[in-house]
Amino acid sequence: MEKERFNNLIKEKLGNINLIVVSNREPIAHEYIGKKIKAVKSIGGLTIALEPIMRNLHGTWIAYGGGSADKVVSDESGKIKLPEGEESYTLKRIFLTKNDLNEYYYGYANSVLWPLCHTVYVKPVFNSGQFLSYDEVNKKFADSIIEEIKVQKELHISSPASSEKHGFSAGEDAEGREQSGQGLNSGANGERGGNVLENVIWLQDYHLARCAKYLKEYDENIKISIFWHIPWPNPEIFSVCPEKMELLEGLLANDLIGFQIIYHCQNFLRACEWELEAQVNWADYSVTYKGHKTKVMSFPISVDANYLNHLAKSEDVDKIIDNIQKNDEIIKPSYEFLAVSVDRLDYTKGIIEKLMAIDRLLEKYPELQGKFVFVQFGVLSRVHIDAYKKFNDDISGLINNINWKYGTSDWYPIVRYFKQLDLEVYLAYYRLCNVMIVSPLHDGMNLVSKEYIMSDTDYNGMLILSRFAGASKEMYDALLVNPFDTECFAEKIYNGLFMSREEKERRISKMQNIIMENDIYDWAYNFLTALYLI
Ligand code: UDP
Repeated sequence: MEKERFNNLIKEKLGNINLIVVSNREPIAHEYIGKKIKAVKSIGGLTIALEPIMRNLHGTWIAYGGGSADKVVSDESGKIKLPEGEESYTLKRIFLTKNDLNEYYYGYANSVLWPLCHTVYVKPVFNSGQFLSYDEVNKKFADSIIEEIKVQKELHISSPASSEKHGFSAGEDAEGREQSGQGLNSGANGERGGNVLENVIWLQDYHLARCAKYLKEYDENIKISIFWHIPWPNPEIFSVCPEKMELLEGLLANDLIGFQIIYHCQNFLRACEWELEAQVNWADYSVTYKGHKTKVMSFPISVDANYLNHLAKSEDVDKIIDNIQKNDEIIKPSYEFLAVSVDRLDYTKGIIEKLMAIDRLLEKYPELQGKFVFVQFGVLSRVHIDAYKKFNDDISGLINNINWKYGTSDWYPIVRYFKQLDLEVYLAYYRLCNVMIVSPLHDGMNLVSKEYIMSDTDYNGMLILSRFAGASKEMYDALLVNPFDTECFAEKIYNGLFMSREEKERRISKMQNIIMENDIYDWAYNFLTALYLI
């Protein structure tokens, strides 16, 4: 969907909404670089996906302010208008203590929920103390949302005209019809329609499983939703979690829960039946628990398809390609065949399994030695957690071994580059590579695979994609692999390298159409209209 159409549809169908998006990570952090302050865009699927939506909907985004200069650049309530020069939405920062971060973020969220939900054989480290902090931080987020609802209400009462800032007036739709009792709930006092802004609370991800509960305790009429970006495990795996009841009860305070794919919805509904004996209606995918009904639906997240496609074909990217071809600063060994991956360095991303498959590829097809190079891009992630530290060491060890095994005086097969690059540089490598390898052991969706497809504008390459990424449900024309099956994985890489250009074009353009049909604007629109219809 074009972003203009998204804007028009939102105005037309949803009337005057005051969207409050809440996530742990902020879209832009302000960092001191020496004495200067720099705005740094956050890395990760969630923030990259939501930023264009917020720029278009002009809402408020509440998130943890983790940048060293975040406090200095924000006002006394933690607010700042973003992005610089455009000022299209408000970021309201919550400042957490070091202890909050250790216990809530590195602790419960990333040492319990992340491995539990990804089912990748990294044992969650359960710790009831961390759950208490997680719960407290969820309450902090809820308090901040409530404060924001009150501020917005005050503002609106003192100056109703301010609600016309987005081009449509309070209580009217795009054609000027009065909205009475049809819109999303207005929040604090449960007023509907009339001259009142409609609050829409959209929580993001596994850091905020308990937040809706506190919002409903404040006002049971506030309409609240959450999108769970990561997988939901099967009920057997979920049942080992000591805080399973608290997590389910927290989530069921939402009116709508979105997951990436239907399988995750089914796992969640089954957990509600198993653990809570809640009433699950399998006909309309809803759960009724303690008299409150929650709808559960799948919304596969996506990318800004048109933007990426145009950027990939831009002069800027052409120039970068030209530079890389003349003098590549990153890939030193020469190659005839290039394979690329971009992953946050996370144990769920299947990096070890991919390296094993490349080892097997070079062993089975020795003619590729001296001609094939694989480059692993990706920033370090969550380095304070032991499982991640060990993972980074394992990757380095394996890369060194493989390069030692096959390397010659002027060639080696594996290059790693762990610093963040500009999007244009990634797109240049996407256009240059012969295969793009995306092999998570389990992933809610995986946006990198969709970014790659939209930028393969010359049909030069082929996507090798894990069956265990949510994206494989839509990208079934990729070469799908089970990353644990080293032999088949190596064979698929080989097939991708030698696939004819016609076949690549046929498959890639089909996948490009699928992404165009459900891009990031469709995702946001589908979610918000589903919430509206509840
Ligand atoms: N990304 C990046 N640098 C990296 C790794 C990832 O800029 O080193 C971006 C990538 O382009 C994508 C997002 O971060 O937009 C990752 O989203 P994805 O869903 O693939 O994985 P996640 O990191 O959210 O698990």
